[in-house]
Amino acid sequence: MLSSLPILNHCSSSPEGATPAGPAHVSAGSVAPGPRTNPVPPGLHANSVAAGLRTGRSASAADGASHLESPLTETDLLHWLREEDDSRLETLYAAADRVRHEMVGDAVHLRGLVEISNHCVRQCAYCGLRAGHTKLVRYRLSADEVLACARQAVEFGYGTVVMQAGEDYGIGRSWLARLIRQIKAETPLAVTLSLGERPVEDLAAWREAGADRYLLRFETSDRELYARIHPPLGSRPSDRVELLRTLRGLGYEIGSGVMVGIPGQTYETLARDLLLFRELDLDMIGVGPYIPHPDTPLGERLATRPEPHPSADQVPNTEKMAYKMVALTRLMCPQANIPGTTAIATLNQESGRELALCRGANVVMPNLTPVQYRAMYEIYPAKACITETAQHCRGCLKSRIRSLGRTIGTGPGGRRRLA
Ligand code: SAM
Ligand code: SF4
Repeated sequence: MLSSLPILNHCSSSPEGATPAGPAHVSAGSVAPGPRTNPVPPGLHANSVAAGLRTGRSASAADGASHLESPLTETDLLHWLREEDDSRLETLYAAADRVRHEMVGDAVHLRGLVEISNHCVRQCAYCGLRAGHTKLVRYRLSADEVLACARQAVEFGYGTVVMQAGEDYGIGRSWLARLIRQIKAETPLAVTLSLGERPVEDLAAWREAGADRYLLRFETSDRELYARIHPPLGSRPSDRVELLRTLRGLGYEIGSGVMVGIPGQTYETLARDLLLFRELDLDMIGVGPYIPHPDTPLGERLATRPEPHPSADQVPNTEKMAYKMVALTRLMCPQANIPGTTAIATLNQESGRELALCRGANVVMPNLTPVQYRAMYEIYPAKACITETAQHCRGCLKSRIRSLGRTIGTGPGGRRRLA
């Protein structure tokens, strides 16, 4: 119940169960709890709050350090990623919430999400939109339909429209450039694109037309695991990290992220993902649990051949694991915009987004896709908010945000770079 949600600053997060998202192979397993942590001293600045979470070192070690100095080492990250004790995790969540408050404030930015096409040429082993999923009915919005969604974003007071799709070459370079120009001419919206690994000529044309941001998750920093789950397209190698650097060079704000609990993903890999977020100086970072889709090679394999004894190093695809990642992401990248993702809300429809907002997140992406298309954008089953209208999503999210004592962000809500 919303009324029973913890009020923090207002957010003082409460323990919740580790909801497993999929088959037994990714259950929590026997992870030994780590050593007791230092308490977080009140009233400290971002880096020193994080320093209070360091293992085996004093909080004063990072006092006075610049925001760009790493607040947590790989060892610290591993310790927290393996931590299972709810009361100790409260320390982590409280630190992340305090850094969020200090570095990006209490406003929650709303980005209107428009899923403009579910066509995709790729064969990602985890995703329901993959080309090989032939049962899926495909759609692509017209320019007028996208424009209507953008106008609705303005009407609802959102500062950004996010156009997301499979890697769909039916979305032509000039068609989209025209549409971006029209949105920028008619509205004050920031435009974010999330359209996969498009050629640099397309990305440059869309930036030139006025697109502000590009989201491209690198999914995992483990190259071998990445190659297993994300095959290249023909002879073109797939290097999302390199493409993020290209996007930065073109002048986009860049967003990336990972799925949590991919079969074969270890705690060490997740720790390196967090270090890579920081190294890339990402403006936006989305993390959410991997949710198996039965009509994909990865989901099908899990359903039919779950590993009897998952390795102790296998990261579980649980709600709890996702919150740990949200909190650590905030500590590693204090200035980034971090959404409470739909995948988290899918595991906990009642309060997943709110808990993420209380544990480091500061962005929510209400869905503006016309309702008749929503169910067809089935990345994974039982996705949150596929039946609500855009009006309903707006009302529901705004009241949830206010119930946390947070405010609704105004304007585009881009990355604030602090000295
Ligand atoms: N095609 C674009 C791309 O790949 O960047 C954008 C759309 S894609 C569906 C957006 C994100 O959905 C992916 O980056 C991936 O992290 C996430 N995703 C795909 N399948 C998923 C699954 N089974 N569970 C959780 N997240 C998933
Ligand atoms: Fe296509 Fe993106 Fe899904 Fe991969 S993750 S299959 S690129 S929609």
